[in-house]
Formats: sequence, C-alpha cells, structure tokens
Amino acid sequence: MFESLQERLGSILNGLTGRGALSEADVSAALREVRRALLEADVALEVVRSFTDKVREKAVGAAVLKSIKPGQMVVKIVHDELVDMLGAEGVAIDLNAPAPVVVMMVGLQGSGKTTTSAKIAKRLTERQNKKVLMASLDTRRPAAQEQLRQLGEQVKVATLPIIAGQNPVDIARRAVQAAKLGGHDVVILDTAGRTHVDEPLMVEMADIKKVSSPHEILLVADSLTGQDAVNLAKSFDERVGITGLVLTRMDGDGRGGAALSVRAVTGKPIKVIGTGEKMDGLEEFHPKRIADRILG
Ligand code: GDP
Repeated sequence: MFESLQERLGSILNGLTGRGALSEADVSAALREVRRALLEADVALEVVRSFTDKVREKAVGAAVLKSIKPGQMVVKIVHDELVDMLGAEGVAIDLNAPAPVVVMMVGLQGSGKTTTSAKIAKRLTERQNKKVLMASLDTRRPAAQEQLRQLGEQVKVATLPIIAGQNPVDIARRAVQAAKLGGHDVVILDTAGRTHVDEPLMVEMADIKKVSSPHEILLVADSLTGQDAVNLAKSFDERVGITGLVLTRMDGDGRGGAALSVRAVTGKPIKVIGTGEKMDGLEEFHPKRIADRILG
C-alpha cells in the first residue's frame, strides 16, 4: 500500500537529505513536489494545503536552513506532520463502559462490515478474553444474516439466533437483551448498508442507535475509494455520529489518500485497518508506522 506515494515522497526527500545548505527556494521546490505527490495519492485538497503550509512554516525557519543537515531536518518535519495528520497516537476500540458494551458497525454495502465485525469479534475473544455476541441487522440482503452466522461459527463467536421477518431495530433490542441475559461483555451490531448514502439508511442508523446506545459507532469504509471514503465519513458523522473508522482493503494498491485525509477532515480516529479477506487480516492503526512506510 502507499506504493506510489511512498516512492514519490521518498525520492523528493532523498534529494534533500544529501545536500548541505538549503535555501527557501529549495524548500519551496520540494514542497511543490510533496503537494503534487499528495494530490496524486488522492489526499483532500484542503488537507494538502494545510499540510504544506505547516511544513513550510517550520522548515523555512533560520534554525533549520542554517543547521548542519537542513535536508534531514526538513524530512523530519514532513514525517512529524504526517504522523500528526494521521492522528499522532493509535486509538484502540474503546470498551471502557458497563457490559454489555455495544459496538455498532455502519457503512455502505460491500465495504467490509460483516467481515470486519467477525475479525474484531475474533480478536476481542482471543486477545482480550471477551465474551462477544454478534448480531446481523441486515434484513435487506437475503444472505447477510446467514453470512454472519457462518463467520461466527468459523471464529467461534456466538451470533444472535435469526428470527425471520424481524426488523433491524427489534433485532438490535433483542441483541442487547440477549447479551445482558447471556453475560456477554461486548455486542457487535452489523448493520445493513446501501449502495450509497440515502435518507432511509440514515434514519435506520439513528433508530438503531437510539435503542442500543452504542459506545462505539465505527464507520467501515473501503480505503480504495479515496475521497469517497472521506465524504462518506463526513455524512455519517453529521447524521449518526461516529466514534471512529475502520479502513478496509489496506492490502490493496490504494493510493493512501483516504487514510491521510479522513482524520484531518472528520477529526475521528482510524481505529483498525483491514488487511485481507481472512479472519486475521486486521491490524491496529499505527500512525507512526504508516508515516514511516510512506516516507520509505
Ligand atoms: P459488507 O457488505 O459491508 O458487510 O461487506 P463484506 O464484509 O461482505 O465484504 C465484502 C467483500 O470484501 C468480501 O468479499 C470480503 O472478503 C472483502 N473484504 C473485506 N475486508 C477486506 C480487506 O480488508 N481486504 C480485502 N482484500 N478484502 C476485504
């Protein structure tokens, strides 16, 4: 991932590190290239602007230009600003609430909600010793509830028994109730998606939120959709309120723009990333690691 951005930024900045004295013009020329590379990686324009402004402000200071290795200092400034833009510290899924803690997964159809629900459930069960219950609230896609049931079997996590014909809000209520009775620590609600954001979807999400009081509302977005993922996060946050994001398909050859913009635009942290179709294809999001990778 980030291959093209990594190569572009890596070579621009490598060009600086070998040099002794830098002039303001050198920094400006490098930043023009940085700007171009970020735009090509589908980073939002407003984010690119504020990023290059911040780097310029710090890099053009006399202390940097007159330092012994000014190029390396500029590279460090770019690195630190990238980390800042990605969200400085990684933020884990927050389960710090009375049990059962409800985690609601939202997003468009095909973004990876069901897969990610099962991956998260597996991880919480295996690594944090949590008793997890998953429930599919997707009554639109005929096989959706069955898909989650099968994944639950695969990762050895309980799923709410399916009652044909029940509506999403009632399933959500039943899931929370069942988790209380069953002594579950966490309930993961896998909601239905649509092909695009529309009013009925938002109303449904708001209704589910009302009856289940989720502690986390995670928007699952496909990282390969770039700017669309950013706009999606904005709309969901405005209408439903999200607490964080999951970016899926980070194993694909995306240009990395979604990851770089989404935090800056929405202010919401990327909590985990999907890195494959398999059930262990889930990683915590480490801004510093991603920045290191981008800079090569
Ligand atoms: P939903 O409609 O949002 O529930 O999406 P699904 O969970 O059914 O996922 C749609 C497809 O994307 C499935 O084929 C998944 O295996 C695949 N998928 C989900 N997450 C990832 C990921 O991180 N990487 C890759 N390569 N594929 C993924």
